[in-house]
Amino acid sequence: MLTKAYGAHAADKPLVPMDIERRAPGAHDVQIDIAFCGICHSDLHQVRSEWSGTIYPCVPGHEIVGRVSAVGDAVTAFNVGDLVGVGCMVDSCQHCHSCEDGFEQFCENGFTGTYNAPTADAPGHTLGGYSQQIVVDDKFVLKVTHGEEQLAAVAPLLCAGITTYSPLRHWKAGPGKKVGIVGIGGLGHMGVKLAHAMGAHVVAFTTSESKRDDAKALGADEVVVSRNPEEMAAHANSFDFILDTVAASHDLDAFTALLKRDGTLTLVGVPEHAHPSPDVSALIFKRRSIAGSLIGGIAETQEMLDFCARNGIVADVELIAAEQIEGAFERMQRSDVKYRFVIDIATMAD
Ligand code: NAP
Ligand code: ZN
Repeated sequence: MLTKAYGAHAADKPLVPMDIERRAPGAHDVQIDIAFCGICHSDLHQVRSEWSGTIYPCVPGHEIVGRVSAVGDAVTAFNVGDLVGVGCMVDSCQHCHSCEDGFEQFCENGFTGTYNAPTADAPGHTLGGYSQQIVVDDKFVLKVTHGEEQLAAVAPLLCAGITTYSPLRHWKAGPGKKVGIVGIGGLGHMGVKLAHAMGAHVVAFTTSESKRDDAKALGADEVVVSRNPEEMAAHANSFDFILDTVAASHDLDAFTALLKRDGTLTLVGVPEHAHPSPDVSALIFKRRSIAGSLIGGIAETQEMLDFCARNGIVADVELIAAEQIEGAFERMQRSDVKYRFVIDIATMAD
């Protein structure tokens, strides 16, 4: 069936309204009427083909929340009317070692991204959540237990939430640990909230003086403006873990120098241009690590949503109409977002 969407026809063209086709729900499918969709910096990277390989038309969007409007015969976990979410994946092979271990994001046969991934459905690649409706295999649908009035602010948890929750858990953020979060945008502001809720001592690193007070309100115990060398030097050799969410190429040595012996700097930002090569001696002489992390598996995404519901955690969002997406992209590029744009999909009607 046809559904309204916003997407781009080329890397240098703005997003425009378009009609796209969604499959009729199969036995294991859940059809979702989308209420809200967050705008991730990955959407911008992808729609502008900053990572190359973007297939057009490109309909971005992988921070999807809405209500179930139909289910296939074999679906038992969801009913029409349920509040649900969909994140960055809509399928995976389900039989490789990673899938069996619940790490669908590391599927050895390649997971199916919510957009820009090959699929049997028209037009041959997946189309994301900047649209009124989506049909997804039930194994990739998440239950939302937050109140309906919080739904817009829950949307960013589906990517920004899980992408910060997963590494914070993996590297054991918690009481007695000093944790840094670099870049206070969509991902970073969730990282601050989550690391605080896990009980860590949280230091926010920002390039924006204007975010100093905000970062404290988000849950940071300390805030460092990373452009200021004296402020940075005061934290040398002191961190157990630093999560770097910056969406642009930058000097990593400034942050590895802040790690304790055996500390880890984990990168989740995927900038268009590579970071300068890090100083190896800074790693060798304190057995420090630089690591990466990719979203999280489906079970862990549900765990994160439940953790957030239990702890009263949602994103700080600025709700926009669909026709404001281009303006939101421009502001996101200038780091001028507090802290996640979310599209009110109701504005796509007519
Ligand atoms: P965002 O909202 O634009 O936030 C990025 C933040 O990085 C900015 O708010 C800014 O924070 C800081 N920043 C931006 N440009 C900078 C520069 N030139 N130098 C230093 N700091 C800069 O982006 P996002 O949606 O959080 O996404 C962040 C990155 O993560 C993107 O590259 C995205 O593609 C990637 N991502 C990865 C995964 C994964 O699974 N690994 C998942 C989702 C997204 P301050 O103003 O505080 O400095
Ligand atoms: Zn994302």
